[in-house]
Amino acid sequence: MRLSELFAKTKRASPKDEESKNAQLLERAGFIQKLSAGVYTFLPLGLRVLNKIENIVREEMNKAGGVEILMPALHPKEIWEATGRWQSFGALFKTESAFGGQYALGPTHEEVLYSLLRNHISSYRDLPVCVYQIQTKFRDEKRAKAGLLRGKEFRMKDFYSFHADDQDRDKYYEAMKKVYLAVFQKLELNAIPTAAGGGTFSELSMEFQVPCESGEDVVYLCKKCNEAVNKELAGSAPSKCRSCGGGADEIKTIEVGNIFPLKEKFAKDFNLSFKDKNGNARLVSAGCYGLGTSRAMGAIAEVMNDEKGLRWPGSVAPFKAHLIELDAGASKIYKELVAKGTEVLYDDRAGSAAGEKFADADLIGIPLRIVVSKKTIAKNSVEVKRRYDVQTELIKIPDIYSYISKNL
Ligand code: ATP
Ligand code: MG
Repeated sequence: MRLSELFAKTKRASPKDEESKNAQLLERAGFIQKLSAGVYTFLPLGLRVLNKIENIVREEMNKAGGVEILMPALHPKEIWEATGRWQSFGALFKTESAFGGQYALGPTHEEVLYSLLRNHISSYRDLPVCVYQIQTKFRDEKRAKAGLLRGKEFRMKDFYSFHADDQDRDKYYEAMKKVYLAVFQKLELNAIPTAAGGGTFSELSMEFQVPCESGEDVVYLCKKCNEAVNKELAGSAPSKCRSCGGGADEIKTIEVGNIFPLKEKFAKDFNLSFKDKNGNARLVSAGCYGLGTSRAMGAIAEVMNDEKGLRWPGSVAPFKAHLIELDAGASKIYKELVAKGTEVLYDDRAGSAAGEKFADADLIGIPLRIVVSKKTIAKNSVEVKRRYDVQTELIKIPDIYSYISKNL
């Protein structure tokens, strides 16, 4: 993509109404734009990152046997009354039709899915069922001051598994832990599996927590064996680690995902049952696995940056290479890279100074910078620099593509 075509401009100064690092950087670099507190537009660069994160998540969920669906965001009041959550779900956005009837804007999708599955599950032969979606959620969050970390409108992957018995469900839950770790490894997020209270549903529950000074959660992390417990669950600081007896550090974190058994909780409300091998009716036992995809993007921005700007991991960077044209044309190189399938952001702006182009490249944070000038062209070369390096290197023009394949 040519930078001259990107309508979203970078900003020199941080927006005054943003307190969080991720929002300041993402807005300055032209990835997102705030509409109101906790509500953001994803601009071209930001949408590319979000799509990459969601595609990594999608790929791993498919590998885990999940099938993707897309449920509505507009939910009739009746299904929320069936679970009692029309009243008890504090952050529920409620709205009314001019033609009669009240609705909720979906903050989570158990109500919709259980209503749906009643029509599809009747026998043990129908189980397990593993479904997920990646979708926009709505929650009337009080503290929507943390940019993408806490939106009133945000993106989430929610995965639900339905089983004939608890053993099968627990087996799936254990497998899902590994799937989550694989996702976060690809996102290059250090997400620590953390024992958690599981809110209202169960004692067995796990959160994936990224250490970060500005995080809202507090976790006790064992210095010796790395076992982690959420402070909310542990209550007072544990004097010793439950696993190895070591001492714990108290760290601040961002929750990027959580998994927990729903057990038969909503199956009762919707009478989601099946006939077992002996013909007896039994309630379906479920597990629930959430991952905030827009929050994950915020967390990456929050932890991977320096004084100059963002520093995206290659797996989710909006482009692999940032091609800067100074006093010599780079369109031939750009076209060749694109023809070979390399994702390149090409800074072809005519009226911008070199310093401005370099500063923007650092702010946007694409992993590899390629500079073309009269000086480099005279040597049939380009100058390359990785975002986290200081030194530059000259590469012969015919070798650029192999350099990129090797280094990214
Ligand atoms: P939190 O404790 O942060 O409020 P939660 O435990 O209520 O989140 P879930 O309802 O289980 O979260 O949602 C699953 C995932 O969705 C969370 O782990 C988080 O990554 C993401 N998420 C939840 N609320 C928000 C929000 N307001 N903005 C962005 N992401 C969110
Ligand atoms: Mg939580």
